Amino acid sequence: MKSLYEIDVYDKSLKPPVGSVVADHSELSHNNTYGPLPLFYVDKLFVCRDCNKEEVWTAEQQKWWYEVAKGNINSIAVKCNSCRKLDKKRKASARKIHLDGIAEKLKKVT
Ligand SMILES: [Zn+2]
Repeated sequence: MKSLYEIDVYDKSLKPPVGSVVADHSELSHNNTYGPLPLFYVDKLFVCRDCNKEEVWTAEQQKWWYEVAKGNINSIAVKCNSCRKLDKKRKASARKIHLDGIAEKLKKVT
């Protein structure tokens, strides 16, 4: 049996495999691509750009990214969950430092 990772998501003769999520092409119309659009999404393995950890990008996450967030069909996940969380934390704390700095300046002025 083929593993989910090797399935050809463009093959119209295939039934969507168990664990896959069917793609909605009307939601993919923001993609100006001449290439074929996937018929369904299957879990994909990718290597995190930051920590080189292998992680699964699930079919549901892909559907959300391409159809709800309107991500480009050629874009894929580049960071694992924990690195994304870390990024968020870093951004939030950078923002806090920034805002604290402004508050500090305002105090001096007034
Ligand atoms: Zn990572």
